[in-house]
Amino acid sequence: SGLWARAAAVVRELEERCATPIGKLRQIADAMTVEMHAGLASEGGSKLKMLLSYVDNLPTGDERGLFYALDLGGTNFRVLRVQLGGKEGRVAKQEYEEVSIPPHLMVGGSHELFDFIASALAQFIASESDDFHLPDGRQRELGFTFSFPVKQSSIASGALIKWTKGFAIDGTVGEDVVAELTRALERQGLDMRVSALVNDTIGTLAGGRYDDNDVVAAVILGTGTNAAYVERAHAIPKWHGLLPKSGEMVINMEWGNFRSSHLPLTDYDQDLDFESLNPGEQIYEKLISGMYLGEIVRRVLLRLAQETSLFGDTVPSKLEVPFILRTPHMSAMHHDTSPDLKVVGAKLKEVLGIPSTSLKTRKMVVGICDIVARRGARLAAAGIYGILKKLGRDSVSTEGGGSKQRTVIAMDGGLYEHYTIFRECLESTLREMLGEAASASIVIKLANDGSGIGAALLAASHSQYL
Ligand code: ADP
Ligand code: MG
Repeated sequence: SGLWARAAAVVRELEERCATPIGKLRQIADAMTVEMHAGLASEGGSKLKMLLSYVDNLPTGDERGLFYALDLGGTNFRVLRVQLGGKEGRVAKQEYEEVSIPPHLMVGGSHELFDFIASALAQFIASESDDFHLPDGRQRELGFTFSFPVKQSSIASGALIKWTKGFAIDGTVGEDVVAELTRALERQGLDMRVSALVNDTIGTLAGGRYDDNDVVAAVILGTGTNAAYVERAHAIPKWHGLLPKSGEMVINMEWGNFRSSHLPLTDYDQDLDFESLNPGEQIYEKLISGMYLGEIVRRVLLRLAQETSLFGDTVPSKLEVPFILRTPHMSAMHHDTSPDLKVVGAKLKEVLGIPSTSLKTRKMVVGICDIVARRGARLAAAGIYGILKKLGRDSVSTEGGGSKQRTVIAMDGGLYEHYTIFRECLESTLREMLGEAASASIVIKLANDGSGIGAALLAASHSQYL
């Protein structure tokens, strides 16, 4: 019938616009490396901020003592304590608590947000058992994982550049977030020093390196997306300070803000961006990350409902609600293997209020999830390939002795962890780009919540007592 022909045409057009043939991915990877160079060359030289982390040494394994971490930057925030026992003891003991951030605090005032965090931390400290040991007379020390773009001025200070991922808080941009947190800790009467301010990518890189010496980069695929890697200090022209002894500096790329004319943007993406809290920004993130994939699918379904009456004569009202279809819903539908696609039927009903759907409609919905997820996964793979190129690790090479050089990328984030089709597509696309020989030496390692441990490790290596 006419309905089906029109609906199929909408989906076909989506598929064409979202296409990411390998040649396009190579152009995108090349654009990524070009932007990396530009962002390292000068402040404001690129959409990629290529932020200095002031981390010039990654964990060695020698770290010892009781340290804390606080992770803010997604749907939940976490507090963590670890007892580090050096090379033999490693992570002797750890405990964490996760607290979800009330939505009103994500768009409220700075004081309220930081007071909420400090008070959760105070409760966490109050519940500490004797298994954790702080030597007499010592101040507690914390690694603060703050996963928004920050212009750091030292390992433990930095000004917020902008909020992302649905946060929009008054009066914090330009402020030192460590000072904000420290004042909130004082208001709680907590005697604690913030020893390291790190992005989650930096934390993941640090935690990853602690576990595996061959880790050279970290990628986050969760609510948002970002990457960090170890750069040679002399390859950072915009760095005018003393060259670190190690000769290295970890760079927080803020790759979510990457943008290129090669990116396959559709009308759905343009509209999503235009109506977002940060129009014109984080374009790569809006194509790839967990906050947005489900929302893109919703926009396609809404258009189908409006233009082809796919879901009946009236447009289901819930389908008009932004962000109602979350990426975990999309993922559940996409992985539905039942013959009648009953998970798809159930999600359409529960989430979008569409009471009954035919198998043909359900199949079409799965097809849309597939197009949107694969585009995101392939674009993420192209970004990783771009980093490997920048590092000169995109082809087979041997170290002095002739042994193969191994390259490990620490990966974290709920999207990568839970969205199997996304993860498998990313991995197979990266293999496709690298070729069999080079991909044999490149490993993506899931560093589940490595960023918390990583931040605590960096607090340890930047302790005031060293
Ligand atoms: P954050 O990025 O907020 O720090 P996580 O790394 O845990 O936290 O990632 C959470 C994000 O991962 C969610 O916002 C969601 O987009 C995505 N996610 C979580 N579970 C799933 C799932 N089952 N399928 C697909 N995506 C998921
Ligand atoms: Mg996270």
